[in-house]
Amino acid sequence: MHHQLTDAAHLVILKRVEKCAYMTVNPVDWNIFSVKWSRKQWTVDLAQKTCTCNKFQMDMFPCSHELAAARERNLDYTSLCSDFYKRQTLIDAYSVPIVPVGHLSSWIVPTDIADRVIK
Ligand SMILES: [Zn+2]
Repeated sequence: MHHQLTDAAHLVILKRVEKCAYMTVNPVDWNIFSVKWSRKQWTVDLAQKTCTCNKFQMDMFPCSHELAAARERNLDYTSLCSDFYKRQTLIDAYSVPIVPVGHLSSWIVPTDIADRVIK
């Protein structure tokens, strides 16, 4: 299946989606949701991309509570993920040519550099 996220990020999402299936979601307003599971409660803000568990703010990647709220609103979860977790970002990072430096013996080092001793 083709998706925007890297395979590793997609696997994490799938696990979290499974987890959020058991959570109860109550809307507070259009963007804010109260998410409950096993006597615990979190507040998710889809517009600010925050959750009271703080995971979402730190990783820029949705926690299971955020995914539960996104499910309630039929929101595509990839819109909640930072570009860092997307395939295209990975491809772009390696799109610049990388020139190999070759074997140490083939290096041409100016004498004033070669003479320097680092202690
Ligand atoms: Zn959370």
